[in-house]
Amino acid sequence: MAQAGKGRLNYRCPSCFMRDIDIDMFYDKEKDEYYCLRCQYRGDEKNVLEKNELARFRYGMIGRRITIEDYGD
Ligand SMILES: [Zn+2]
Repeated sequence: MAQAGKGRLNYRCPSCFMRDIDIDMFYDKEKDEYYCLRCQYRGDEKNVLEKNELARFRYGMIGRRITIEDYGD
């Protein structure tokens, strides 16, 4: 089940997510980076995924259980 290619996925901003704000980032095609309008965060896809994983991990530690299945694209 292939989904949309690079740049068409919606990633939430990991920085905002840490603050309990669930907001989708925008994609900068020229720089191949995602960025958030709400905070200063920006980063490429790999960075976003890493940060999001960290955020999920932290949330998991305080009770919300998030499995790798939630990760799907
Ligand atoms: Zn943000």
